[in-house]
Amino acid sequence: MTSADQPDVHVIDEVDTEFVDMIKRIGGPNIQSCYQCGTCSGSCPAGARTNYLVRGIIRKALLGLKEDVISSQELWYCTTCYTCTDRCPQDVQPTEVIKAIRNVAVAEGYMLEPHQKVAAKVIEAGHAVPLDKESWQKLREKVGLEPVPPNASGNPWAIEEIRKITSKSGFDKLIGYEEFMRAEEEKKKEQEKKG
Ligand code: SF4
Ligand code: SF4
Repeated sequence: MTSADQPDVHVIDEVDTEFVDMIKRIGGPNIQSCYQCGTCSGSCPAGARTNYLVRGIIRKALLGLKEDVISSQELWYCTTCYTCTDRCPQDVQPTEVIKAIRNVAVAEGYMLEPHQKVAAKVIEAGHAVPLDKESWQKLREKVGLEPVPPNASGNPWAIEEIRKITSKSGFDKLIGYEEFMRAEEEKKKEQEKKG
């Protein structure tokens, strides 16, 4: 038989036997109760619009296909609506399983750029959606509110505290904050050059 005659098979060569225990410890204690009925995927609004298959992720996780699971884009399609958790007949709590796997993914360097951006904004401005546009401040004043809301945005000391916490906990390194900000600065300069 020549190699051209070989069937196209996916060779599973990296099975992580610790992966299931890791998920159980972090937040999906019932993952091994899954009997693959598909109720979760059949109820999932994210799966109805994308190729996201929560049942498939759970199956792969149970097989120990850690790299495959944590590096997949689909892992981030879940909106955490909890429909699957309400409906799972085995109390697997798929939403918790997905969240646990996401934690493993981030700890191992897999993070989507939009999430990295939001996390960087929290460190930079003390808020995931900072209110830094003058027009918004004017709008707030127009409806009788103070120009800057009473959160970390208007309190430099609070932002300093957030930076201390993120630095001491290692969160800044986890999200690659410094590299991310440098890249953002470069992008800004490029845009300014282009006018
Ligand atoms: S609904 Fe529960 S038991 Fe069924 S496939 Fe999903 S996680 Fe597994
Ligand atoms: S919590 Fe996530 S996986 Fe479960 S139904 Fe909602 S979007 Fe789908």
